[in-house]
Amino acid sequence: VAVHSGRLEFTTQGDGDVIDLTDGVERVVQSSGVEHGVVTVFVPGSTAAVTTMEFEPGGVHDLREALERLIPREGDYEHNRLNHDSNSHAHMRAAIVGPSESVPIEDGRLATGTWQQLVLIDFDDRPRRRTVSVTVVQ
Ligand code: ZN
Repeated sequence: VAVHSGRLEFTTQGDGDVIDLTDGVERVVQSSGVEHGVVTVFVPGSTAAVTTMEFEPGGVHDLREALERLIPREGDYEHNRLNHDSNSHAHMRAAIVGPSESVPIEDGRLATGTWQQLVLIDFDDRPRRRTVSVTVVQ
């Protein structure tokens, strides 16, 4: 088994900022030279997530609204009370969406759909620096 890894670094606005990772992940896959395998994309941290979606302004808007309805920013949250914190909604949203995705590599390319992009979502309530780990396994 051969493993290649790379890192992608971003500055986010927080508050549900959605960043398209697809080109950066493709570059790591291409530089690995792997033709058939799998790539795993993972973001460390308990207030950010990685998923796939159609990355266009309407879809981004609707996903952010859906998560706000599901887990409102304002609420009677134990995490905020116990820790004098303000981002319990961000922890819960990140836990539900999840921190990673794995995508097959076929003929040296991501086997994602045409309208399916890999995205980083930063749910924290302030701007953050994020480092995304990209691991290619052959
Ligand atoms: Zn917190």
